[in-house]
Amino acid sequence: MFELINVSKKFGHTQVLDNISLSLSPGSRTAIVGPSGSGKTTLLRLIAGFEMPDSGLITMRGTPLFSPTVSIPAHQRKIGFVPQEGALFPHLTVEENIGWGIRASRQERRKQVEGLMDRVSLDRQLARHWPHEISGGQQQRVALARALAQQPEIMLLDEPFSALDTGLRATTRKATADLLSQAGVAAVLVTHDQNEALSFAEQIAVIRHGRFAQSGTPQMVYSQPIDEETALFLGDAL
Ligand code: ADP
Repeated sequence: MFELINVSKKFGHTQVLDNISLSLSPGSRTAIVGPSGSGKTTLLRLIAGFEMPDSGLITMRGTPLFSPTVSIPAHQRKIGFVPQEGALFPHLTVEENIGWGIRASRQERRKQVEGLMDRVSLDRQLARHWPHEISGGQQQRVALARALAQQPEIMLLDEPFSALDTGLRATTRKATADLLSQAGVAAVLVTHDQNEALSFAEQIAVIRHGRFAQSGTPQMVYSQPIDEETALFLGDAL
């Protein structure tokens, strides 16, 4: 459904992404793991359309989103983005945050917001609350609902669970994974946390210095790591 083919990106003289290729199918779950500074966030920003590559091709259902002659901006891509904590507009209520990008009458928007709150298991009574009045886990659900409002085909998750404590992190992760798979939305999770990657994804891509050092199923990457660095990284998960 979505393909990134030989994509490269430099910032100044630094080669941040070097010939990266990635395929996503509907409902699939991919984790991108790698050390800080390896290019994970830049990769998500290229998929979303917040940054353009220097070279390569990005296609959705065979139609170019980026090529030498085409460059489709973020708001025209059906791609949702859930960043790390602090992603909500602090001066808007829960309801206003979720409904922010919905172009519809007030009544219709409220109906859609309620439906989205149900989908992410947020109590409707929280609709008029401010972000600072709700918990971290609830804030992440609001961010997810806001991204779902755009009816994305791909959901990009940039360390979205990192601020949550361990128990809540596991339940929020599972709920998010189930919701996106059922909706047929391809999920791409960036994480530092090996356990998170192994339990969330069907496909893990290990990124190192802007290149995929290895990609495969969690079992494959775990049992046959490509090098010692990957083995040590995944070994920490035990
Ligand atoms: P990660 O998410 O894996 O920590 P990033 O994609 O954020 O890595 O960053 C990869 C490299 O690109 C880092 O060296 C970072 O300093 C650099 N970088 C990221 N964004 C920019 C930018 N807008 N301008 C210049 N350098 C950047």
